Amino acid sequence: MEREVLEFDVQFIGAGPAGLAGALHLANLIAKHDAAVAQGAPGKPLGEITIAVLEKAATVGAHGISGLAMDPRGLRELMPDYKEQGCPIESDVTSDDVMFLTGGGSFRLPIVPPMLDNHGNHLLSLGNLVAWMAQKAEEKGVLVATEMPAARALVDGGRVVGVQIGDKGVSKSGEPKPNYQPGAICHAKATVLCEGPRGTLARQLEPQLGLMVGKNPQVYATGVKELWEMPAGRVQKGRVIHTMGFPLPSDTFGGGFIYGMNDHTWAVGFVTGLDAPDPTSDPHCNLQRFKTHPFVKALLEGGKVASYGAKAIPEAGWWAMPKLSADGLLICGDSGGFLNGARLKGTHLAIKSGMLAAETLFECLLAGDFSKERLAGYEKRVDASWAAGELRSVRNFHQGFEGGLFAGMFNVGVGMVTGGRDWLLRDRVPNHAGHQRMKKLAEAHAHGKPENGKFDGALTVD
Ligand SMILES: Cc1cc2nc3c(=O)[nH]c(=O)nc-3n(C[C@H](O)[C@H](O)[C@H](O)COP(=O)(O)OP(=O)(O)OC[C@H]3O[C@@H](n4cnc5c(N)ncnc54)[C@H](O)[C@@H]3O)c2cc1C
Repeated sequence: MEREVLEFDVQFIGAGPAGLAGALHLANLIAKHDAAVAQGAPGKPLGEITIAVLEKAATVGAHGISGLAMDPRGLRELMPDYKEQGCPIESDVTSDDVMFLTGGGSFRLPIVPPMLDNHGNHLLSLGNLVAWMAQKAEEKGVLVATEMPAARALVDGGRVVGVQIGDKGVSKSGEPKPNYQPGAICHAKATVLCEGPRGTLARQLEPQLGLMVGKNPQVYATGVKELWEMPAGRVQKGRVIHTMGFPLPSDTFGGGFIYGMNDHTWAVGFVTGLDAPDPTSDPHCNLQRFKTHPFVKALLEGGKVASYGAKAIPEAGWWAMPKLSADGLLICGDSGGFLNGARLKGTHLAIKSGMLAAETLFECLLAGDFSKERLAGYEKRVDASWAAGELRSVRNFHQGFEGGLFAGMFNVGVGMVTGGRDWLLRDRVPNHAGHQRMKKLAEAHAHGKPENGKFDGALTVD
């Protein structure tokens, strides 16, 4: 079988905020360098450098799911004039509420905890954001290729030398069909994993290259989100609401969010920790039950679901981040665990990590040296960055919730005073992998029991 072989200087796997920021920043650094050399600055021009972003979805953004209340810090560094350049912001955040929901009632927390303060943040669609970023990257000469699912990492003598794209036209049993098309081999001097959480390649490479040795296990949540089209005048554009409590029992991590995206759309979502002790806890059903709460139901009255999606979120934080560089490899964004679980925010960190990878790769290009030692400069850059500062300040956030909601909230308070330590003043708190916390069905209180067949097709959907 003949496979097409493509050669790139650098390839980013995944066209999310991390991969696109990395590719765009690298293209900008090269262009700036070459322009300076042309003006007489010392050094040689880098010339034609091939930068590719390989995306599995049919269109950029099609697989992205997010609120999205974005802290603009990363984007501002990448593109200081992002507003003038047409960044598709739907609204600026105008108000913040944190609600505690009981079975039938609700109360507003008198103060918004600092980590949930969205002052200065923007509301936008992740799909629209990355489509716009892809356009900006392409304008700078980056190849953004869709329908390119990287299926296999190619490792030669311990060095990642490229990826193999998944074959097309394969039957469910693995047999080639008449439209069979073998996936290409994509070689690069460096491959940057930006696959989002729990990526195909990350799952192959983490054990093979020992990237999780000595780390806490990663813990996931599933975020399920719906966009609700509302009649005119029913949405408070820019309003952000976060909720705790109903419908989750206190031993399960998670909560709800409602964002007023524009004057006719609510984004309504619910995050359920997959380390729930209850084996029947069902993220989809939790969102459906969340909407039946009187507080949420009243907001959605008269509207209808326009779209729906679900996606994993890496929640375990700083101590569960994999080793971020290896021979031929860098890891950014959710793939590298760059997500602040306390804020439910990862986009600004994904963008920043992509930029730090780009700065490392630029240095490699200048030196003509892609050795693992030079690539390891990325880890130093991360450690010295504000991204590490932010993640370190909440490094034991998720661990606190293993003791339940109230222990978790107490731990959050202690962490704010101690700079991220837990209530025993430990710098590093271990955590369990999700499956280790799950009880046997017979021992569990089946709080999240799926209510199959009980969806009404209007407020609750199957
Ligand atoms: C419900 C929900 C709400 C959220 N709310 C917020 C919020 O309000 N604010 C915030 O900042 N963050 C939020 N986040 C988190 C945020 O979406 C992520 O942190 C961010 O998208 C991470 O960017 P990324 O580039 O690392 O990965 P992703 O955005 O996941 O992008 C990864 C890309 O890689 C592609 N891909 C994956 N595997 C492969 C492969 N093998 N080959 C080719 N392509 C591949 C995917 O299709 C995808 O396009 C939320 C997440 C969820 C799920």
